[in-house]
Amino acid sequence: MPQRIVAGNWKMNGSRALLAAYFTAMEQGWAAPRRCEVLLFPPALLLSESIERAAALGIRLGVQTVHPEASGAYTGELAAEMAADAGAQWTLVGHSERRAACGESNDGVAARAVAALRAGLKPMVCVGEVLADRRAGRAEDVVREQLEAVLTTMGEDLCAGAIAYEPVWAIGTGETASPEVAQAMHAVIRDILGAASKRLLEVPIVYGGSVKPDNAAALFAETDIDGALVGGASLDAAAFLAIIAAMENHGNP
Ligand code: PEP
Repeated sequence: MPQRIVAGNWKMNGSRALLAAYFTAMEQGWAAPRRCEVLLFPPALLLSESIERAAALGIRLGVQTVHPEASGAYTGELAAEMAADAGAQWTLVGHSERRAACGESNDGVAARAVAALRAGLKPMVCVGEVLADRRAGRAEDVVREQLEAVLTTMGEDLCAGAIAYEPVWAIGTGETASPEVAQAMHAVIRDILGAASKRLLEVPIVYGGSVKPDNAAALFAETDIDGALVGGASLDAAAFLAIIAAMENHGNP
């Protein structure tokens, strides 16, 4: 059975003061999860500040992207090796905001996932279609192309990571994919993984896109939804704790 995961992506939000208050609130409301792994992707500059308090709660930390190269003349970039050295255990790759704003191609995303593994980080590979693709009936094709680029490069090594299905039209918009729509794409993703290798059936597939305390339980009840990648709501400790509780209490069997 795939590992269940609830992950928070702070994007370019937060400060040292917010982080301190956040961990205080998390510590007060924390009930050690039995079913799911909790991950937090703060901005890289807040990583070292997070290490001790995250470790005390059993929360694993990650960065929001890594560069394919291990070092070199890449001003402003972050190598996977540096993230691992600073205490990260995971990294996002291919978040739609980076695909759109930084021109990350499917091959570039695959190269980042390989770099993550090279450095001992687990990659959470983000895939998802934009609204125009969905309206044109191309959602599955787009997701398949994104996944196949990663599978061709990584094969069974992807067992070390996870997939996040994030329909771009649902990110930060308040418009969540219905549990049925999300489940349908998760089942397609599971089929693609299983066709590549039976071992890949164990890769967790989490859903991302306006997940909130009030819609999490319905999403988590779906067979192929193994957790969530939470953006906006993960900045609010009470909301994030409620989403973790939804996975603990209502996740698929
Ligand atoms: C995300 O950034 O990965 C995300 C899913 O954001 P939100 O939950 O705010 O839609």
